[in-house]
Amino acid sequence: MHARRRPRPTPVWWRDVAGVLCWSSVLVVVALWVSGRGLQTLVTGTADLLTSLGRLSGLVAADLLLVQVFLMARVPMIERSYGQDELARRHRLVGFWSFNLLLAHIALILAGYTLRDHNNLLRETWTVVTTYGGMLLAVAASAALTVVVLTSIKVARRALRYESWHLLHLYAYVGVGLSVPHEIWTGADFTTSRVARLYWWSAYGVALGAIVLYRLALPLWRTLRHGLTVRDVIREAPGVVTVLLGGRGLHRMPVRAGQYFVFRFLDGPGWSRGNPYSLSASPAPDRLRVTAKSAGDGSSRLARLRPGTRVAVEGPYGRLTAERRVTDRVAMFACGIGITPLRALLEELDYRPGDAVLVYRAHSVADLVFRDELEQLAHRRGITLHYLLGPRLAARESWLPERARFSSDEDAVRRLVPGISQYDVYVCGPDRWMDAMCAAVLAAGLPAAQLHQERFSW
Ligand SMILES: Cc1cc2nc3c(=O)[nH]c(=O)nc-3n(C[C@H](O)[C@H](O)[C@H](O)COP(=O)(O)OP(=O)(O)OC[C@H]3O[C@@H](n4cnc5c(N)ncnc54)[C@H](O)[C@@H]3O)c2cc1C
Repeated sequence: MHARRRPRPTPVWWRDVAGVLCWSSVLVVVALWVSGRGLQTLVTGTADLLTSLGRLSGLVAADLLLVQVFLMARVPMIERSYGQDELARRHRLVGFWSFNLLLAHIALILAGYTLRDHNNLLRETWTVVTTYGGMLLAVAASAALTVVVLTSIKVARRALRYESWHLLHLYAYVGVGLSVPHEIWTGADFTTSRVARLYWWSAYGVALGAIVLYRLALPLWRTLRHGLTVRDVIREAPGVVTVLLGGRGLHRMPVRAGQYFVFRFLDGPGWSRGNPYSLSASPAPDRLRVTAKSAGDGSSRLARLRPGTRVAVEGPYGRLTAERRVTDRVAMFACGIGITPLRALLEELDYRPGDAVLVYRAHSVADLVFRDELEQLAHRRGITLHYLLGPRLAARESWLPERARFSSDEDAVRRLVPGISQYDVYVCGPDRWMDAMCAAVLAAGLPAAQLHQERFSW
């Protein structure tokens, strides 16, 4: 059997390069606007001032839109430097900025043209939309982007099923695509400057290339190369199953404990919907293992999978790995099915007996997944194991069960893991529990750089 290939550590400078590239792209766009007489036209009258600022906001909005596409293209350099959680946060922030600038672009350009043509706003808007090249498509692009932004607002997002939200979010690509013709046909920068044209075509090319390469070609290649199939399905606890997967040349797959894949089980209708699951055991040269709790249609079909079912994968993704460690000791805090990546990490990480603690929060003994495995692992590797069982504490937001109501959240952390500041802490569980857990470990004195977390939410 072949030894597993260890993924290379992520160089810390990757993150800086990615940040510098994103900011440089905005600087280039501003520089192109300046070289296209953007600054001079600010002082040649109110109409020109408004139009010129409208051009600038439109250019930066378009650039940020491409940055956003790039951030979510799963480029390994970006994914491994930032992690999906942080990328999603940045993607959101950049998205709202780009949309606000888009609104400013529309308002400023229309106001500028109205003044220039001594027209009224409504008539000018009609003229611009119906006579300028690519403008009808630009209106459709703005509508698509508005749908994406509205459905990304937290209240709307909560009201939508993941699949509906995901499908609507794909309209962003439609928005980017439909906005291109008006930039080419009417954008002053495109029509007058060769350098600007070169920049914009390259930027569109890089964004499109990243999507095609990393969201389509690489997952397809990995799926075909490794030929993953279901080997076995094992019931672990009520509503929780483990799926064992086998495949070719898995030792060459650059995956580590703590990471996840987006899986598509090719077992019939509905196969095209991907669901993310973390590995629940350290990846072996001949098999991968995931364990999932039934939460809806996608996860409950796992219990019905038959051996031999083919599996398509995207990934591996995620930064909840050994690479993030800065100390010799590890403390793991898991809640519910959040135990999966931590179980795999406890197996793979290096630590001395007595230097690892697992605190596992569950509703009852019957809900403890991997109990036997964890106890064997604890015995073999000298892990201190604490189960915290019982219903949630009702009186306050807390990571503790009801029976621990007389303890503060951070005191409980200090009691279970004395000297917490000398540990790397890995946390995984439901969102609200994670918020309380992370707040408690930080309040108990853990430096933020030693806190590593994975959220099972979108
Ligand atoms: C990085 C990551 C790792 C995960 N690892 C595990 C694991 O090891 N074991 C496990 O049991 N669960 C894990 N999950 C959660 C699991 O992906 C969802 O429970 C599952 O996708 C639900 O799909 P469904 O069709 O069964 O339910 P649905 O009815 O579609 O949804 C049920 C809930 O799951 C969420 N959800 C649905 N699809 C997705 C998606 N593609 N991405 C994120 N959330 C989604 C929805 O917000 C909803 O609240 C992980 C999630 C993420 C983001």
